[in-house]
Amino acid sequence: MKPISNQCPLCKGSMSQGKTTFTADLKFGVVVIREVPAMVCQLCGSDWIEDHIAEKIEQKVEAAKINYQMVAVSNWQHEEKAAAIYVVK
Ligand SMILES: [Zn+2]
Repeated sequence: MKPISNQCPLCKGSMSQGKTTFTADLKFGVVVIREVPAMVCQLCGSDWIEDHIAEKIEQKVEAAKINYQMVAVSNWQHEEKAAAIYVVK
């Protein structure tokens, strides 16, 4: 994975480790994942999710599509422990 700069690409503010809420609007519903680790800009509040985390999120979104969940809301910290459930197709 490539390192993320500590400088915000939008406003050049400083970024620090924080949490964000990821949402994806699918055609049939939405996927919401809370407490996702991310770099958050202290100035403008933009959040940047690292590649290896983004890949896992992608898997969760795919799983939601397969299961055809209308609303999938989960917490990243809990998901980590139950990750195996989501990898299985
Ligand atoms: Zn910024």
